[in-house]
Amino acid sequence: MNLVERDAAVIWHPFTPQKNRIDPIPITKGKGTLLFDAAGNAYIDAISSWWVTLHGHAHPYIAEKLYRQALQLEQVIFAGFTHEPAVCLAERLLEILSGPFAKIFYSDNGSTSTEVALKMAIQFWWNQQQQQRKKIIAFKNAYHGDTFGAMSVSDRSVFTLAFHDLLFEVIFLDTPSQENIASSIATMQQYAAETAAFIYEPLVQGAGGLKMYDAALLNQLLVAAKENSIICIADEVMTGFGRTGKMFASEYLTVKPDIICLSKGLTGGTMALGVTACTQQIYNAYMQDDALKTFFHGHSFTANPLACTAALASLDLLQQPDTVTAIEKICKSIAVFANELTQLKAPIKNIRTLGTIIAFEIKLGKDEYLNNVSQFVTQAALKQGVYLRPLGNTVYVMPPYCITDEELRIVFTVIKNILQHYE
Ligand code: PMP
Repeated sequence: MNLVERDAAVIWHPFTPQKNRIDPIPITKGKGTLLFDAAGNAYIDAISSWWVTLHGHAHPYIAEKLYRQALQLEQVIFAGFTHEPAVCLAERLLEILSGPFAKIFYSDNGSTSTEVALKMAIQFWWNQQQQQRKKIIAFKNAYHGDTFGAMSVSDRSVFTLAFHDLLFEVIFLDTPSQENIASSIATMQQYAAETAAFIYEPLVQGAGGLKMYDAALLNQLLVAAKENSIICIADEVMTGFGRTGKMFASEYLTVKPDIICLSKGLTGGTMALGVTACTQQIYNAYMQDDALKTFFHGHSFTANPLACTAALASLDLLQQPDTVTAIEKICKSIAVFANELTQLKAPIKNIRTLGTIIAFEIKLGKDEYLNNVSQFVTQAALKQGVYLRPLGNTVYVMPPYCITDEELRIVFTVIKNILQHYE
């Protein structure tokens, strides 16, 4: 049996219909922006492998640091023990985070980072005898992960259909626009006394289709939240570490979150790690003699030393002037491409960019997630040496920062070629 047949016999892939499945491509090697398959074909990873890869695949600097750390300490229980990589990473994150954060709580992926944030916020009130404050406000079209709490605060969509009855009730606000902002603020005020927290993906709703919205409007909502003592949770799992052109999307906002969630690019996309950072005020609610006020949450791989080491190495690379310049260059190229797209005859709409991200929709007459655009575009792009994975009919690019001008040009050309199919 070849690898694909062996895979079919034993593996169930994520987000993948199992009947009539398209065979997965065996990948044997990654280098820079490129993924190589078993037949030796190379694909430019134009979506950073689900938005995680920052500096390219198999980066030698990160690999070297990981190797040394693996020989030293690969894992240790994080209750009752600590280690240099975890402390060092927390110190460095607190220096660069957008907001007055005081403590870092580790977990091991994006969903756990948001679960931790929600639980931390709800128990913040519970610890202070304010049990009535347990509602969560979130945006329609949001996505915060696949575990039950994270699903609950995500939009009710095709992703969550089978579980709707089991998800906890959430107050959903429309993604901010000039038209709805006043009513959203009113809703927030109305529910304030029973609300623990407001969770949002700042400026870009990722899995909801890379929908972008205005910083000034989000600021207005955050002001209202703060005025009503609602804890503000920024889910920067996708937007963190330069994706939006700034280190964190929260830097575009004048009102800072009380809790921030990080994962994906945190380790440069090398290892699974989650971070939930909070302010001193939130932490103080847990500084109590009563042991029942403890935050009883943790994962086997909390603060895994290898993952923390990868994150430190990724930060080293991210803070190099060359990387900062590379991000700026990608932002400029993305803006130029957006302009080129507007000149095309192709039936596309809502061309939008923020930093290193560009997205647009292919007009279909019907906008559901379960159309075949994604499969068609993915297959057509792969044949031309580029990996794209549209979300429904939303095509987007979110490249690793090491992508060369030439590679980016290839990605844009391939997209234009594919769009001719829809003309
Ligand atoms: N929050 C956001 C904003 C995300 O984009 C994602 C993943 N796409 C998650 C949370 C969940 O992260 P993970 O897939 O690592 O659980």
